[in-house]
Amino acid sequence: MLDHDILIIGAGLAGMRAALSAKELGADVAVVSKVHPVRSHSNAAQGGINAALTDRGDDWRDHAYDTIKGSDFLGDQDAIALMCQEAGSEVIAMEHMGAIFNRDEDGRLGTRAFGGQREARTFFVADFTGQALLHVLYEQILKAGALVYEEWFVLSLIVRDGKCGGAVMMDIRSGRIEVVRAKAVILAAGGLGRVFEPSTNALICTGDGMSLGYRVGASLMDMEMVQYHPTTLKGSGVLISEAARGEGAYLLNSDNDRFMLKYAPEFKELASRDVVSRCEQTEINEGRGLDGCVLLDVRHLGEKYISERLSQIRELAMDFANVDMVKEPVPIMPGMHYQMGGVAANVDGETGVPGLYAAGEVACVSVHGGNRLGANSLLDTLVFGRRSGVHAAEMVKSTQHLSVDDSAADDDKNNIQKLLANDKNESFGQIRLDMGTAMKEHFGVFRDENGMREGIEKIESVKKRAEDVYVADKGSTFNTNLLFTLELGFMLECAESIAVSAATRTESRGAHTRTDLPDRDDANWLKHILVSQDEDGGQELSYKDVVITDWEPVVRQY
Ligand SMILES: Cc1cc2nc3c(=O)[nH]c(=O)nc-3n(C[C@H](O)[C@H](O)[C@H](O)COP(=O)(O)OP(=O)(O)OC[C@H]3O[C@@H](n4cnc5c(N)ncnc54)[C@H](O)[C@@H]3O)c2cc1C
Repeated sequence: MLDHDILIIGAGLAGMRAALSAKELGADVAVVSKVHPVRSHSNAAQGGINAALTDRGDDWRDHAYDTIKGSDFLGDQDAIALMCQEAGSEVIAMEHMGAIFNRDEDGRLGTRAFGGQREARTFFVADFTGQALLHVLYEQILKAGALVYEEWFVLSLIVRDGKCGGAVMMDIRSGRIEVVRAKAVILAAGGLGRVFEPSTNALICTGDGMSLGYRVGASLMDMEMVQYHPTTLKGSGVLISEAARGEGAYLLNSDNDRFMLKYAPEFKELASRDVVSRCEQTEINEGRGLDGCVLLDVRHLGEKYISERLSQIRELAMDFANVDMVKEPVPIMPGMHYQMGGVAANVDGETGVPGLYAAGEVACVSVHGGNRLGANSLLDTLVFGRRSGVHAAEMVKSTQHLSVDDSAADDDKNNIQKLLANDKNESFGQIRLDMGTAMKEHFGVFRDENGMREGIEKIESVKKRAEDVYVADKGSTFNTNLLFTLELGFMLECAESIAVSAATRTESRGAHTRTDLPDRDDANWLKHILVSQDEDGGQELSYKDVVITDWEPVVRQY
């Protein structure tokens, strides 16, 4: 058995920020990640991180209001205010740790414009901001002496008398299963993008953390709020950063019309993501698209500017769509990008299960509500990662380990033996694709009652098939076949909670747009939907009022 004060599940920005802050307070910290830390999905973040710096004449209140309006008034205003207040110090702390942000002509930290915001307040490192931040944090946690279990896969959380006391995990290299006893566990396991196909997310974004929390009694909140990003590449669904529009790109339809002028006269291409995605999908549905896409045009920015600021996406468009954006517009479509919902947590990361924390994309604090603003997620990971680490480090000082022994791994060992012994012939790959396609079709940009019902039936049917999945590799060394099958189990639970929450919300708000109920209904739905597991393994729904402090809901216009 392994033993630590704090076990952090996930080595993306949230997990590593939490590790650093807990380590600074003297806690014994271990981080576990199913991939090498710098391969976490945070590495793929392109566009930047938001902060309103006072010496720029910006104000956290303006950032907060843009975020609240972006959330379609579903975000909790106290949490949003706190995130925006702490944003500046977090960005500057990253700079002091060694992140080399782009500078403006005066040599100060430079910003670019991002969607849904009245100020250019997105700090960036070209178009690979996440990679820059992740590498800096990795250096910092190594320097601070945090232990990293690299390429270990967490199978389950250990809960005794309602309290979390550790986790069971498998060394992917050897197949060895170990119990880790911990006084606090921080879930920082990222998002669930791959529950949808296609998605901008890495193949490892399979909702493990949401499901791990759900299985031990934590609630999942706002799960119906799934972000479709306006600019993902035709075919592969690879992300073309909002930075392109931030730097001035146009969106064109098949008539060569800059259609956003019509839908969002003030913000144009830089309206909120949910808004732009709906406009594009409307153009496509009404016959003004090109082969299921519209066009992103940056040619007017010129080759020099594009190479300096958007080099990665230029390469991506060449590699994945064979288009050089310097010479021609890029075919793009709305694509699944981000889950606003997650494990319900407060601003210190505490979930409903004592000893269990959650931060980053796995969590729902709720600072994004119905729609996340671009560049607010990196901010969320750092602010709430740090706060969770601090809270957990203080908590463990006065906490004893729960009585946990090696038998805590028995259920997982049996489960794996059963999976390996299965002689039925369903393939995880086919089930995963069928699930993802059903989610896209029925819970994508536009939804309606009948479609969602049909979607729920499809999810139930793939779930049934998943019971018969065949794991061809029986070995213990790097058994990715087994891992993908375990991930499929997590994904199906996430899919179900998205579907049931979406079918419950009888209005349109943010990313949840119902063609049969197009209006926002503040009288009945200024509240969060929470899904938890009941005693029979079924889903239990509950509700929580949105926290409104200074900003009353108004009609959202861009
Ligand atoms: C292509 C792309 C571009 C983006 N660009 C931006 C941007 O410019 N600005 C912005 O604000 N946001 C952006 N986002 C969103 C943002 O990057 C993510 O929401 C954020 O980085 C998530 O960080 P995280 O630390 O919560 O999780 P991740 O970085 O996803 O890390 C999750 C960690 O959990 C580990 N893990 C998961 N399951 C298990 C398990 N079972 N066992 C062990 N370990 C496990 C993984 O190994 C990994 O280390 C982008 C997202 C994508 C996909």
